[in-house]
Amino acid sequence: MRNRKATDDLSRRDILKMVGVGSTAGFLGLLGQPLVAKADSRPANLLNGLAPIKIKSVKAIATAPNGVNLVVVKVETTEPGLYGLGCATFTQRAETVVTAINSYMSDFCVGRDADNIEDMWQAFYTSSYWRNGPVLNNALSGLDEALWDIKGKRANMPVYQLLGGKARFAIPCYAHADGQTPEAVADNVQRLMSQGFKHVRIQQGLYGALSLAQNPDFKDAGFASAKDSFMDQRAYLKSVPQLFATVRKRCSEEVELMHDIHERVQPIDVINLIKQVEQYHPFFMEDPLTPENMNWFKQLRESTTVPIAMGELFNNVNEFIEPMANHYFDYIRCHVSQIGGITPAMKVARLGEWFNVKTAWHGPPDVSPVGHAAHAHVDYAIWNFGIQEAGGGFNEKLREVFPGCPTIKNGYMYVNEAPGLGVDIDEKIAAKYPISNRAGNWTVRKRDGTIIRP
Ligand code: MG
Repeated sequence: MRNRKATDDLSRRDILKMVGVGSTAGFLGLLGQPLVAKADSRPANLLNGLAPIKIKSVKAIATAPNGVNLVVVKVETTEPGLYGLGCATFTQRAETVVTAINSYMSDFCVGRDADNIEDMWQAFYTSSYWRNGPVLNNALSGLDEALWDIKGKRANMPVYQLLGGKARFAIPCYAHADGQTPEAVADNVQRLMSQGFKHVRIQQGLYGALSLAQNPDFKDAGFASAKDSFMDQRAYLKSVPQLFATVRKRCSEEVELMHDIHERVQPIDVINLIKQVEQYHPFFMEDPLTPENMNWFKQLRESTTVPIAMGELFNNVNEFIEPMANHYFDYIRCHVSQIGGITPAMKVARLGEWFNVKTAWHGPPDVSPVGHAAHAHVDYAIWNFGIQEAGGGFNEKLREVFPGCPTIKNGYMYVNEAPGLGVDIDEKIAAKYPISNRAGNWTVRKRDGTIIRP
């Protein structure tokens, strides 16, 4: 048996050797007929695979065309002109991500293989030993998306094709309707409906209805920073059912409505609030609990049949396992440019398919158009897509800095069909809009000055 195996191995090695040197004569000599004669007419990349390419440089591009800090990773390769872009935006701490990319990621990546995305993801993820936090995760998201962009360009296909092709013709989106009063919000819902949106998120006075809060005692007492915000939690809890009632009355059941609680009230108050809005049939209620209060999910779930969306503050796929396995929420709401990019997003989406949890990637204006495109490519390809947030859309300034932006028409998002993610960046125009630290203070306090955790 040993001799027979040795002979088999030898002939296999010989054949591989001949294929390796492209010897048609070798095949003719050995097998008597030209087995690869037809294959010779195929393009070289189908015969031999793509030639390996290396990463030549990695850098951060920071820009704020609309006054919102955006960070993009650009990965250049040893193939002239071939580069990829990915979104690494952490708008509140943008400079720290720039440092992570330029001071650490660049050295780590240069000279490595640009093809092996999973390996690169795992390598960078573990390379700092301490891991799984914002900043490094944002940088990793940018790298991952840039490598998928490169992969698509090499394959001459949009990224969604590499993920399995289209499971739907376009991406249903929801837009944001804000306003100081319920009537103003209803006006904006009607405006968005006239533009074709069938799903609209409603918020009165921004997150936590901050504009409803007057004269906080902590400010009168000179406590804390004058820049900190005051949230009147009772006023907020009273306002949300009234908001839903007004919008439903004005806009009927023709539109799907969602609302973001933004984790800013106590768990037991959240449970009572969601029970009150059940009669208005929300599409979902978003972010009911802070990451520190996940143990309340069981009670919340048992108290209401309103769909729940959750997870934009999660950092890692592992955080979804228990809530998914327990069916605690209906929509995965993570920030793809925070969890590590397309590679973990596909994992969390597939995990959700097992538990009938759908996606609703976090898509506010503080995701770059490259990041929105990354969402859309995943959205096309997965079965358990739910809805896509398209907060803000893509105005002229964004389209100028990011040629090839996705487009939104009649409530649907489309990517252009260019290879890769389809979005480029004009670095000269991007440099006209420097980032700042304006978005740095999200501190919200109670009347007595106690910090409220989002
Ligand atoms: Mg949210």
